[in-house]
Amino acid sequence: MHGWTGKILRVDLTNRTYRSEPFSEEFAHTWIGGRGFAVKILYDELAPGIDPLGPENKLVVAVGPISGISAPNTGKTVVAAKSPMTGGYGDGNLGTRVTEKLRKAGYDALIVEGRAAQPTLLYIEEDRVEFVPAEEIWGKGTYEANEWIYARYGKGAGVLVIGQGGENLVRYAVVRSMEGRSGGRPGMGAVMGSKLLKAIVVKGSRPIPQALPAEMKVIGRDDLRTVHAMDQKAGWSLQGTTGVLPWCNEVAALPVHNFRRTQHPDAWRVDGQRLAEAKVAVYGCPNCTMQCGIAMLDTEGRESELDYENMGLLGPNLDLFDIREVATLNYLCDDFGLDTMSAGGVLGFYADAIQQGAARGTLRFGDFAGMRDLLTDIAHRRGEVADLLAEGTRRAAAAIGHGSEAYAMHVKGLEISAYNCKFIPGMALAFGVSPIGAHHKESWIISYEITQTPRESYGREKAQKVVDLQRIRGGMFESIVSCRFPWVELGFGLENYPKYYNTITGRDYELEDFWPSADRIYALMKLFWLREYPDTDRRADYPPAVWFDPANADAEGLIAGRHLEYDQYDALLQHYYDIRGYDERGIPTRATLESLELGAEATAAEQFATLT
Ligand code: SF4
Repeated sequence: MHGWTGKILRVDLTNRTYRSEPFSEEFAHTWIGGRGFAVKILYDELAPGIDPLGPENKLVVAVGPISGISAPNTGKTVVAAKSPMTGGYGDGNLGTRVTEKLRKAGYDALIVEGRAAQPTLLYIEEDRVEFVPAEEIWGKGTYEANEWIYARYGKGAGVLVIGQGGENLVRYAVVRSMEGRSGGRPGMGAVMGSKLLKAIVVKGSRPIPQALPAEMKVIGRDDLRTVHAMDQKAGWSLQGTTGVLPWCNEVAALPVHNFRRTQHPDAWRVDGQRLAEAKVAVYGCPNCTMQCGIAMLDTEGRESELDYENMGLLGPNLDLFDIREVATLNYLCDDFGLDTMSAGGVLGFYADAIQQGAARGTLRFGDFAGMRDLLTDIAHRRGEVADLLAEGTRRAAAAIGHGSEAYAMHVKGLEISAYNCKFIPGMALAFGVSPIGAHHKESWIISYEITQTPRESYGREKAQKVVDLQRIRGGMFESIVSCRFPWVELGFGLENYPKYYNTITGRDYELEDFWPSADRIYALMKLFWLREYPDTDRRADYPPAVWFDPANADAEGLIAGRHLEYDQYDALLQHYYDIRGYDERGIPTRATLESLELGAEATAAEQFATLT
């Protein structure tokens, strides 16, 4: 088989055993890799209803056929499990040397099962697997743990590691790598913590199987140069994703004061220009010539690597406009191994709940020291409030009550990324129908919507665009496993990706040939959801109630008085279901599933829930 190693490594932490398992060429072509492999494995192997933080859950680490190849931005790996945040399928990707090393060790995926008896580091070197005691770094932050690992295994090793957040089962703990990369915001770090798995270290030196390696080498080298030249011309990586912040403020899409406002006159103080001026270093993922990890010094003089999402949610969303203070909250999240977006969402929600009189407490918007201290307590689950907030916004709102559920800014239990959609229907839909909860990575329609369509439209073309982008982003990029930024930010052609795929696998794909697999992956994520929540309905695909509330509309500015409309949003949602072939609950119909060759998976789902 070209393009895949054809093997998955399965490790059982409970019994300290492991084995290499082959997979078929048909499996590879049907599910491609990364997210595709992960959702298929987890759907087949997890019984519905298991505790995501129990030993029955499994962590899948999966790469794709173009991962680790010397071509633009191919250094990403997917981490996946049943999500402690949503209870559905959860995943994320991160830049890491594990990508290349796992393939060179001879595997396309790793499945970690069970629970270790004591804190453990999993060391994988080709056919050798060791269960290494990790008490020495248990309780340490990700930076210190990384250093300890590098001292023993060398800087070139592939490393995935968690911080105190994952150890203490904070539900929005992430997996970290390379001292700056994070992934798995639906709680993949907490799943590692629940298994007492502090870190995974991978080494390997076998060749990555490719159909035309000499050709790929030339194409990859040329395209790395092309992307670098495009970036030099555009200057995108001078500010990275933070360059979008002034635009979000200008078009009234910035999360301010727990998403209650969309613009702020001080937003310029935490924008990309300020970050570029404060820059002390730039970091990035392997195989990337447009590195976007821009680091500055925080209030304690520590390097903190910022992007738009963490700037927006740990800054304006908390009414914080001192960029060094934002950098400090970001540093703490990274060191504790917490998702910056969910952390910003949770802190904003709690300050809002206090302001609304729903909760008692001293935290106020704009209170940097209060936010910093509470964040530290959350990572260690210290005290009743921090323990509750470690559960995430949805569970915290359910416990607090008093109407706070309306302004708990999440979808399906995952906090909303840094785009305030109180009057952006298409992007609100993108958050609503994201199958892992509110994440912008699935369908970033906002740019198209604001610049190329009437903002107030709820037309079918927006639903179609959400589907189109899901196929490209959540489907193709997450399964071939490559960073989407060369395409999104620089306009590097999408036709390059089937070109890589064909050169590596020997296939003859056009871009559209990825869509059946993309649709299959989305449908299976939905079936996973249905098995866990047999009574689910279309309300699971609604954004927070506060975006529909006239009383919450901006009092002034670009969208003063505007808000989402329930009946029109519902019609837009129905367009999405119609295009996808989903029923009125938002679940793929039997006919849709069979057309996607998911008949067996449908039958498995019918033991627990009804299909139409
Ligand atoms: S553009 Fe940024 S996120 Fe993408 S591979 Fe490069 S450094 Fe990583």
